[in-house]
Amino acid sequence: MNSQVHIIGGGLAGSEAAWQLAEAGVRVRLSEMRGGGEMTAAHHTDALAELVCSNSFRSDDAENNAVGLLHAEMRALGSLIMAAGGAHRVPAGSALAVDRDGFSAQVTAALAAHPNVEIIRERIDRLPERGLTIVATGPLTAMRLAESIGAATGSDALAFFDAIAPIVHRDSIDMSICWMASRWDKGDTKDYINCPMTKQQYLVFHQGLLDGEKTEFKEWEKDTPYFEGCMPIEVMAERGVDTLRYGPMKPVGLDDPRTGRWPYAVVQLRQDNALGTLWNIVGFQTKLKHGEQVRLFRTIPGLQNAEFARLGGLHRNTFINSPKLLDGTLRLKAVPHIRFAGQITGCEGYVESAAIGLLAGRFAAAELQGETLIPPPLTTALGALLGHITGGADADSYQPMNVNFGLFPPIEGRMKKANRKHAYTARARDDLAAWLDSASHAAIPEIA
Ligand SMILES: Cc1cc2nc3c(=O)[nH]c(=O)nc-3n(C[C@H](O)[C@H](O)[C@H](O)COP(=O)(O)OP(=O)(O)OC[C@H]3O[C@@H](n4cnc5c(N)ncnc54)[C@H](O)[C@@H]3O)c2cc1C
Repeated sequence: MNSQVHIIGGGLAGSEAAWQLAEAGVRVRLSEMRGGGEMTAAHHTDALAELVCSNSFRSDDAENNAVGLLHAEMRALGSLIMAAGGAHRVPAGSALAVDRDGFSAQVTAALAAHPNVEIIRERIDRLPERGLTIVATGPLTAMRLAESIGAATGSDALAFFDAIAPIVHRDSIDMSICWMASRWDKGDTKDYINCPMTKQQYLVFHQGLLDGEKTEFKEWEKDTPYFEGCMPIEVMAERGVDTLRYGPMKPVGLDDPRTGRWPYAVVQLRQDNALGTLWNIVGFQTKLKHGEQVRLFRTIPGLQNAEFARLGGLHRNTFINSPKLLDGTLRLKAVPHIRFAGQITGCEGYVESAAIGLLAGRFAAAELQGETLIPPPLTTALGALLGHITGGADADSYQPMNVNFGLFPPIEGRMKKANRKHAYTARARDDLAAWLDSASHAAIPEIA
């Protein structure tokens, strides 16, 4: 078959992208290395869209939950991943959990049977020099291709590990305790939120880091080259009781407006998205278990009611600095015949990866027809996730992210948390419907 789009990687994103293109009448070559004598460290089968770990697509509640809303939007756009997930649903309350073998088998069969899809079991080692391409090789991208991607993006824009610091919803921070100031009081702008600690609070917190239960590295993650550069906070704590006070918790120059003095230690948060709704705890990448993180980080003064948009972690994870590198339709600005999709763009999770695959497929199909698809509104789950990846996130601190309401433009006014979630999902439903109804195509934009 003479293909029009080459997709590299037949995981969640590549499979969804292939489906969207094929359904739009575009001929696709889907290159998947598993089944051709290769395997990743996390996959076990040759099936397309294999779920490498849990069998859950998380909440299916489209009224109250951002990932549930994303499910609904993907269904509205004819998602293969959501259709196969629905067909192989297993009981899991309000979550969508699936029979993993049945699910992957259905995705594989649907693509194999599609007249516009050719599945080739091959490993690709270089970015193609021409032809519309979607790279969807995921967190465990094979090394040679990763090197080729690094050559195109610049090696400092390609990460092999994530080092995730927790992210807090801005409106859950107690600003009667915290205050804004520049980092260690250098510079004119007051860009950081500072949480002050007394000596006693610091010592208890330090002990909590040492005692807290941690997740183990997987065998193939153990020799982690990031370790010195992006050290977990608990490892720093192990180096001595004052190490953190000379590192991320340094209080120097930070006068607490309530006392006029420097606190014993500070925890600093930095804005994480252009909307200013999400703030990351600087230097707090960690392998503490999630429950432990919530408990311990809520002992930080000012964060006692913190709502976390994301908790910390460290994993093997290949991803590019998308906010810097990609245009609004997921094209690599420097090499625009290449698009990226899935977890390699810095989204996180099965559903988010498939969602970005869906959009990449639709963008590529439109481009082949000499048009561009106007991205979904930022008020929808698809648009919020895409907007975050392609520009809304802070490129300097970019780390993988699940979909969550913190990525949506805020709805002003006081209301109960449950009502606010309803307001987000109701707005998203209306705006997606309007987007689907509208003439959502326009001329292809120039690369900025
Ligand atoms: C150990 C581990 C556990 C995880 N657990 C979960 C979880 O429980 N829940 C969750 O939501 N997410 C989890 N994730 C994240 C999960 O991997 C992603 O959410 C999702 O699989 C990403 O989809 P993707 O299509 O981007 O990548 P993948 O699904 O990984 O697909 C990428 C595909 O590209 C292929 N490939 C790689 N390099 C090449 C090459 N050079 N040529 C050809 N083919 C290539 C791979 O074989 C693979 O099939 C986990 C990730 C890891 C590593």
